[in-house]
Amino acid sequence: MSSNPLFDRLLRVGAASATAIQTDTNCYSYGDIERETGRLANALVALGVGPGDRVAVQVEKSAANLLLYLATVRLGAVYLPLNTAYTLAELAYFIDDAEPALIVCDPSARAGVAPLARGAPVETLDQAGEGSLPFQAITQADVFETVARSPDDLAAICYTSGTTGRSKGAMLTHRALMSNAETLVDLWRFTADDVLIHALPIYHVHGLFVATNVVLMAGASMVLLSKFEAGAVVGAMDGATCLMGIPTFYTRLLARPELTAERVAGMRLFISGSAPLLAQTHRDWTARTGKPILERYGMTETGMNTSNPYDGDRIAGTVGFPLPDVALRIIDEETGRAVAEGEIGVIEVKGPNVCAGYWRNPDKTEEAFRPDGFFITGDLGVRDARGYVSIVGRGKDLIITGGLNVYPKEVESEIDALPGVIESAVIGLPHADFGEAVTAMVSVGSGCDLTEQSVLEALGPRLARFKQPKRVLFIPDLPRNAMGKVQKARLRDEYQGLYA
Ligand code: AMP
Repeated sequence: MSSNPLFDRLLRVGAASATAIQTDTNCYSYGDIERETGRLANALVALGVGPGDRVAVQVEKSAANLLLYLATVRLGAVYLPLNTAYTLAELAYFIDDAEPALIVCDPSARAGVAPLARGAPVETLDQAGEGSLPFQAITQADVFETVARSPDDLAAICYTSGTTGRSKGAMLTHRALMSNAETLVDLWRFTADDVLIHALPIYHVHGLFVATNVVLMAGASMVLLSKFEAGAVVGAMDGATCLMGIPTFYTRLLARPELTAERVAGMRLFISGSAPLLAQTHRDWTARTGKPILERYGMTETGMNTSNPYDGDRIAGTVGFPLPDVALRIIDEETGRAVAEGEIGVIEVKGPNVCAGYWRNPDKTEEAFRPDGFFITGDLGVRDARGYVSIVGRGKDLIITGGLNVYPKEVESEIDALPGVIESAVIGLPHADFGEAVTAMVSVGSGCDLTEQSVLEALGPRLARFKQPKRVLFIPDLPRNAMGKVQKARLRDEYQGLYA
């Protein structure tokens, strides 16, 4: 028998007749997955894809897209998902860097992608599961001998969202993906009885690995929605047990009056991650549904690192404890030593979940790891007396004003607590005198009468003078990426001349 650590493990528990993926038009059992990935793997091999080859995929979300991911892993190749928002210019960079043996894109993009392909075949797959690739798979046998791989072999390359500099390809091994999903299945108590509402994109680790791998590994099933739409998600709660979302899901769901405690009665778990969940959203959700959201923290390079507990207190504004197989330390960048409890430092992690480095980028790989193997996340964190970790921002978001460090999260939390504020983003902008000037971008609800002056007055007694914003700007919608992260880099670009 061959051994393909990730693929074998994903299909081990689900009974052949049990439902794995439901869409609004189709239903795939675990047996169907075995057969359909067999057909697709045969088609990929016929197109010249072999073990270790990259398969670059930029297509709309569908069950067929998930099957393509699984088939790629099954034949020992390396799955490379690409955000559907990437332009052709961005795609050219990924293709040059990863040199895929096959590119799969939406039929509408084929003419644009073909000239970038460097001789690799370009096949198509649309949201309905049709296209040149499934067309070739139809005539293939549904039996395929799964290709053996070692735990150190790559299963996927995921490019980082690249908020600073060029995006880097995180090399994710079979071990990393398998171990992280196994840990989460245990921690979050997933069983074959679970039904997950899957409304996340699947070009990103959250929807692709956390959601999909956890469900399949548990032998559970997912209701695969093509995108997040609050009404559809509330509708899907009948008969479902879990939701994994980004914070925006939860704020949008709270805006729906039909979201009530009765409506969520059958749901056992709401999980949030990929961006900070406002403590207020956490409290509002608990007040409305009686079910506290479980917030966890991870990143492309590491998968999940921490999680609030399943049984213990899920504390708003924290990301919980390190996962059982993840070592986490918080380091003072200047001294290189671990900080004391309650002090802020850079989070570093080590464990089987961590990537094997950056694709064809030994310099960035070396920069990202300490000699003892810890990966430097770049996130700033703090640990409290009970061991709960909180994220206070990204290292690069740190503001240095007049030589003093200001952690944006601290200022944002004060502003967010003011009546009528929906959310805030605090950034540092170039300032002749201070180097950087603390600047607050605030989004408020309708009818809120806060002014720049009243915000500054409210912060006066609460924050040291150097932490107080020099300016407060009201912005209707803070810019976000698809995973719900506020794009501070964009705000910094847009407002860089504010103090000029
Ligand atoms: P990505 O690689 O796109 O998944 O982004 C990872 C980054 O998202 C992390 O390094 C954090 O900065 C941020 N992130 C993920 N989960 C959380 C969370 N629960 N709270 C705050 N930030 C988070």
